Amino acid sequence: MELSLTGQVAVVTGSTSGIGLAIARALRAAGAQVMLNGLGRAEEIAAARAACGDAPHHPADMRDPAAIRDLIASTEARFGRLDILVNNAGIQHVAPVQEFPEERWDAIIAINLSAAFHATKAALPGMLARRHGRIINIASAHGLVASPFKSAYVAAKHGLVGLTKTVALEVAEQPITCNAICPGFVRTPLAEAQLPPLAAQHGVSEEVALKQYLLAKQPSRRWIEPEEVAALAVYLASPLAAGINGAALSIDGGWLAA
Ligand code: NAD
Repeated sequence: MELSLTGQVAVVTGSTSGIGLAIARALRAAGAQVMLNGLGRAEEIAAARAACGDAPHHPADMRDPAAIRDLIASTEARFGRLDILVNNAGIQHVAPVQEFPEERWDAIIAINLSAAFHATKAALPGMLARRHGRIINIASAHGLVASPFKSAYVAAKHGLVGLTKTVALEVAEQPITCNAICPGFVRTPLAEAQLPPLAAQHGVSEEVALKQYLLAKQPSRRWIEPEEVAALAVYLASPLAAGINGAALSIDGGWLAA
């Protein structure tokens, strides 16, 4: 048994940026064919494709169940199989509950939670028929504990951990696994966008806001790098991880230990 994924096919949602792009690159480097997905300018999508061996890109919007079904069907049609589904696409919005825009709540629940249900529902029949599958949900430390002002995100990520456990039990006797990765703060545009408002709120520089406020819950006091999350995803996708099912694996510099 080894980490090689040669001959396998993966879909990574939200892989035009950040963690998803790092996972797509790492899966490609391990030998898998990858179908990219995600929003972005044409140059960003072209750069992501180039970084993943000219991998194809499917433009499905994760708010659209029909488009998600087409992402899975198109991948199976193009490559003849789908072994690894990484539900990664996600967005964030930070506001007190009483001021939280309803449109942001709906979008976060759709993209961070419901999209994983629709993609899993579409991918499982093929995985069951081929008797091989890995479903990897990118949850968050906020899938296990809460922080104030992130009601939709925390609710969606707790829901995603619950979906992970449920799917894991349903496939437990099959050669398929479903696991969640729960990162702390990872150096990506999604997390870095939280710095300017935090700095303004406390009247400090972004550097001080990072150490004193954003990373206050992360005992390592450093960003997790996207490549560190990607390495865990490659391991979970590999034959070595066949016995790991229904787990919510923290990669958070000690956050959940505190
Ligand atoms: P990012 O903003 O760098 O990337 C998000 C990706 O999702 C992009 O490719 C974007 O195009 C895609 N996306 C957004 N809306 C979409 C939509 N409607 N349809 C299709 N694709 C869409 O963010 P990231 O930090 O890499 O986040 C990736 C995942 O990791 C998210 O689920 C996020 O919640 C999770 N996460 C991030 C952190 C962190 O600190 N960065 C920590 C824990 C969990």
